[in-house]
Amino acid sequence: MNIDGAKSALVQVGAELYHRGWVPATSGNFSVRLESGDLAITASGKHKGRLQPEDILQVDGNGEPRGSAPARPSAETALHVQLYRREPEVQAVLHTHSVGATVASNRTSATLDFEGLEILKAFTGIASHRSAISIPIFPNDQDMAALSAAVDDHMARHGTGVAYLIKGHGLYTWGQTMADCQRHLEALEYLFEYDRLSRTLGTAEP
Ligand SMILES: [Zn+2]
Repeated sequence: MNIDGAKSALVQVGAELYHRGWVPATSGNFSVRLESGDLAITASGKHKGRLQPEDILQVDGNGEPRGSAPARPSAETALHVQLYRREPEVQAVLHTHSVGATVASNRTSATLDFEGLEILKAFTGIASHRSAISIPIFPNDQDMAALSAAVDDHMARHGTGVAYLIKGHGLYTWGQTMADCQRHLEALEYLFEYDRLSRTLGTAEP
């Protein structure tokens, strides 16, 4: 994808995710990998439902801005860079702050685990409902270098997985295309709502 394609893709994604309530109040950030190896990422502090092409910035593989754009890249750029570095196949990353993801992130367990659900087939590489996914929950940290190092260390030991949560904060997920990434996000929101409702109704397994 070139920078113009990336800009239109991220503007469109922002409008969709905002209207689903997953990136309220300028929260969240999105990126794609460009064919040059650079990244295109949303600028810091922009309303995600009303993104303009100039709100999408080109940064190098270390997250440093190209050129002299007046806007700054997202404060969480280091977390995007970590994923693109670790996984050459990752082409898109979405970070959202939905209520469902944030409630799920506040569980006291270290991971949120799901198995035996048909929706799991939405994740790339999963072909049967007999599969399981484990979503790690990391403590929130304003030090992005420390947080990205914690994420990278976890992935080195347990595999990259499909997503992670940051406690009291939100969700990161990724994919080999933007379509894959959006499908993962929808499936994850389904799982968070499934988990919440199962607990509310008392039908969750202990
Ligand atoms: Zn965030």
